[in-house]
Amino acid sequence: MYIKDIFYSFQGEGPFIGYPQIFLRFYGCNIHCEYCDEPDFIHQRKPYTLEKVLDELHPLIQKNPHSISITGGEPLIQVAAIKELLPHIPVPAYLETNGTLPKHLEEVVDLFTYFSVDYKPGFDKEFADFMTILRGRPNVFVKWVLTRGFPVLDLKKMVQTVATVAPDVPFIIQPVTPFGGIKDRATIEDIERAYNFAHQKLADVRVIPQSHKLIGIK
Ligand code: SF4
Repeated sequence: MYIKDIFYSFQGEGPFIGYPQIFLRFYGCNIHCEYCDEPDFIHQRKPYTLEKVLDELHPLIQKNPHSISITGGEPLIQVAAIKELLPHIPVPAYLETNGTLPKHLEEVVDLFTYFSVDYKPGFDKEFADFMTILRGRPNVFVKWVLTRGFPVLDLKKMVQTVATVAPDVPFIIQPVTPFGGIKDRATIEDIERAYNFAHQKLADVRVIPQSHKLIGIK
């Protein structure tokens, strides 16, 4: 399996913000987002055996974390590794995914307790299939990164897609943190407009920024 990083920190995003977690960051992603803070650099791709991962996790599990975040990149591109690994970890698993690989999700869905699913513009069909698999499960939320000047037409389409497949699931608007190709924050007008559109059709809408970036931790 290819891992980028294993560490202990605090969840900085979404409704589980502030809980201590182990982060297991898989290498690589199947898509490309302009604001990505985990771009692929081949020298960061570390091959790990199952034993080596479990060795590194052992002292972190002793810290009694809330859960282990299986994140990336996009962790579901290494679905075989997830199947091999998770049955050995005695901590609830929290999936952080871009929501574009529903067939991969089907293979491992029962290994996870928590699901943080991104909505990525342009992957509406994949997102719909993904949320259909998760329908009726607890501990699921959708996260969408709001960039400055996000087009109104795209906003309407996005809200319609989410309202069709996941109207009751908490929907987190995460104003973008400037990084890489993104130089500007979303404005208060962007945030209010996005909130108001989403709030018309979705039951539980919140605006939550990336808190770990604010306090300077991983
Ligand atoms: S889906 Fe996530 S990991 Fe992949 S490019 Fe986008 S922000 Fe980066």
